[in-house]
Amino acid sequence: MTDESVLIIGGGVAGLAAGIYGQLNGYRTCICEMHSLPGGLCTSWKRHGYTIDGCIHWLVGSAPHSGMHRLWQEVGLIEGREFVYADTYLRHEAADGRTVVLYADMERLEQHLLALAPGDAAAIRRLTRAVRRLRGFDPPTDGEPLARRLAKLARLGWLATTHGRQLRRWGTTSIAEYATQFSDPALREALLEAWVPEFSVLFLLFTFAWLADGNAGYPLGGSLPMARAMERRYADLGGVIHYRHHVRRIHVEGGRAVGVELVDGRQLRASRVVSAADGHATLFDLLGGEYLDDETRQPYEQWPVFAPLLYVGLGLGRTFAEEPHTVSGFTFPLSPPRRIGDAIRHRLPVHLYHHDPSLAPPGATSAVVMLPSQYGYWRDLAADREAYEREKGEVAQAVIAGLEQRFPGISGQVEVVDVATPLTFERYTGNWQGSFEGWLLTPQNAYTVMRPMRQTLPGLAGFYRCGQWVEPGGGLPAAVMSARRLVRLLCREDGRRFQAPIA
Ligand SMILES: Cc1cc2nc3c(=O)[nH]c(=O)nc-3n(C[C@H](O)[C@H](O)[C@H](O)COP(=O)(O)OP(=O)(O)OC[C@H]3O[C@@H](n4cnc5c(N)ncnc54)[C@H](O)[C@@H]3O)c2cc1C
Repeated sequence: MTDESVLIIGGGVAGLAAGIYGQLNGYRTCICEMHSLPGGLCTSWKRHGYTIDGCIHWLVGSAPHSGMHRLWQEVGLIEGREFVYADTYLRHEAADGRTVVLYADMERLEQHLLALAPGDAAAIRRLTRAVRRLRGFDPPTDGEPLARRLAKLARLGWLATTHGRQLRRWGTTSIAEYATQFSDPALREALLEAWVPEFSVLFLLFTFAWLADGNAGYPLGGSLPMARAMERRYADLGGVIHYRHHVRRIHVEGGRAVGVELVDGRQLRASRVVSAADGHATLFDLLGGEYLDDETRQPYEQWPVFAPLLYVGLGLGRTFAEEPHTVSGFTFPLSPPRRIGDAIRHRLPVHLYHHDPSLAPPGATSAVVMLPSQYGYWRDLAADREAYEREKGEVAQAVIAGLEQRFPGISGQVEVVDVATPLTFERYTGNWQGSFEGWLLTPQNAYTVMRPMRQTLPGLAGFYRCGQWVEPGGGLPAAVMSARRLVRLLCREDGRRFQAPIA
C-alpha cells in the first residue's frame, strides 16, 4: 500500500476513535461528519440556559485501575474529567407504596431487598452472589503492564473454568426470563425497569458489578465535553474533520472502495474507507445493498435493536435536595395511566441531573424523561408536519401532568420542555429506526461477545466498519473498542506494529 489515506464516515465516538488510532499508527485520516458537531449520539444541547444531555448515564472505565480507563486515556477523553458516583442505580416506586432501591453496594442491596421481599431470599442471594462473582472482572488490554495483564488473564481463566457454564447461561437468559425467579411483583418490575427486558441478564449483572466497583461514574459536564475532548486529541494528532460533509455513496472501483460522494456532489478519494456511521445506511444506501452475505444481512432481518426513544428534556426552575442522586433515575406509577406519544404509560421514569449543577442555572435542575417509542408511529405522523408538531406538544403536556402528580406545583416551575422523537434521533445521527444503541445484546446474539462481528465485507477490498452496529450491546466503550480493533486490523494488513500511546 503506497497511499496511507483513510477516509472515515461519521464523527461519533467510534469515528473519532478510529481517526485517533489511525493517526497514532501513521495513517493520514480525515473524517466526514454530516453535522457541525462531533460525538454523534454522545451529545448534549442547550435550551434557554439549560443543558439537555442526550447520552451519558455512566461511563464504564472511569476507575483508573480498569483496563478501559487506559483506552479512554488513549483517545484523550478522560484527562481532567471529574466523576461522581451515585450510591443508587435506580429507585422504583411501586404502586403499593413501597420503593425498591437498586443500590450499587451489594451488602446494602442484599439487606434492603431481603427486608423488602423475604419470600425471594434465595433469588436475591443468587443475584448478589452473581454480581460479587463478576466484580473485578476487567479484560486485559495490551496497553497495560505485563504483570497486570497476566494477573487479569489468570482471573479470566479461573472464571471461565469455574463458572463458564453459568456465564453462558446468563448470556443466553434475558432480563425478562431472569426476573421470573422473583415472586415479589415490585422487585420483579424494578428489575424489568433496570434495563431493556429483552437484554441479556449478563449485561445487567455486569452493570451492577461495574457500579459496585466504582468503575462506572458519571462525568461532570456530561456528554458533549467528552466528544469535544476526543475532537481535540484527534486535531492535535493531525487529523482533519470535515463537518457538514454528508456522504451519499461509497465509490467502488474494481472491487475496492476508493472514496465517497457527498450529497452536494463533491467527491473525495482515499485508499481506504471506514464507515463509523449507521450500519443499515452504510450497507443498504451508501453501498446500495451489494456486498452482503448471510452473515452480514442476518442481523438486519432477525436481531432486535434498542427501541428508539421519546426523549423529553426538561429545565426545572427548582432544586431537588430531597431526592437522592441516582445513576439512572427513579420511576413512579401514573395514576391514572396516561397516553404519552404512541402508548399508554403506566409509569414515568425521571432522571434528575441534580448531581451535575453545571447543566442548569443556579437554583434550577436539568432532567430527562426517556420512554421507548415506536419508530413507525412517528414516521407515519410526520407525513403531516402539523400533526407531528401537535403530538410533540401533547407529549410535553402529558409529561408535565405526570410530574405534577409526583411534585405538586411543578407545572409552574417548568422553564424548558424539549421533545425529541425517534425521528429526531434519526435526523441527527442517521441511526436506523432512530435506535439509540444499535443491536440489543440478546440471548440470540450473545455469542458475538466471544466472536466479534466482522468489520470487512466479502468482495469489497479497502472498506471497513466500526461503531455500535458491529458491537452488539453498543455504548461508548464498545464504540472505542471497535475502532481500536479496526486500526489493529489495518496495521496487521500492512505489517505494522499497532501503537496506542496515551497523550
Ligand atoms: C439516551 C442515550 C443514553 C445513552 N447512555 C449511555 C451511557 O450511559 N453509557 C454509554 O456508554 N453509552 C450510552 N449511550 C450509547 C452511546 O451513546 C452510543 O452507543 C455511542 O455513542 C455510539 O457511537 P457510534 O460512534 O458508534 O455511533 P453514532 O454516535 O451514531 O455516530 C455516528 C456518526 O455518523 C454520522 N453520520 C451518519 N451518517 C452519515 C453520513 N452519511 N455521512 C456523514 N456522517 C454520517 C452521524 O452524524 C454521527 O455523528 C446512550 C445513548 C443514548 C442515545
